[in-house]
Amino acid sequence: MTDCIFCQIVEGKIPSTKVYQDDVCIAFMDIQPLTRGHVLVIPRSHAGGLADLPPQTGGHLFQVGQKIAKAMRKSSLKAEGINFFLADGKVAFQTVFHVHLHVIPRTEGDGFGLKFGAEYGKPPERSELERTAGQIQEALGK
Ligand code: AMP
Ligand code: ZN
Repeated sequence: MTDCIFCQIVEGKIPSTKVYQDDVCIAFMDIQPLTRGHVLVIPRSHAGGLADLPPQTGGHLFQVGQKIAKAMRKSSLKAEGINFFLADGKVAFQTVFHVHLHVIPRTEGDGFGLKFGAEYGKPPERSELERTAGQIQEALGK
């Protein structure tokens, strides 16, 4: 995909700072890090979103994320924790439509946070959880 910036990174057409690569994926520094050390892991083959990503490749991406997370904890970055984040779809904050796993090293007081919706803190009734689970289960069977 010539108009995809992450494909261009895979092809070496635009600069990137890589931390890891193998036959299936590459990992490089995010140009706008959420915390110091923020890395993106991407498949070499273009997949716009999760639905396009072969499950085996997804599994491999996660394993590479684990490897990098371990290195971040061991490294002089001294990560005390790690967040994985994957945005699938515009509403989920995906801005680059080539699947990527964010690996975000965390340290106390790094300033990174999550914003919750207005309904958070008002747990739904069990019946509501069951109704919602039913909607997902029904689709899983399709
Ligand atoms: P997302 O919102 O999950 O789609 O995240 C896209 C991420 O890609 C953002 O964190 C960007 O800072 C990052 N990004 C965009 N262009 C580049 C690039 N050329 N090199 C490294 N990271 C990039
Ligand atoms: Zn791509």
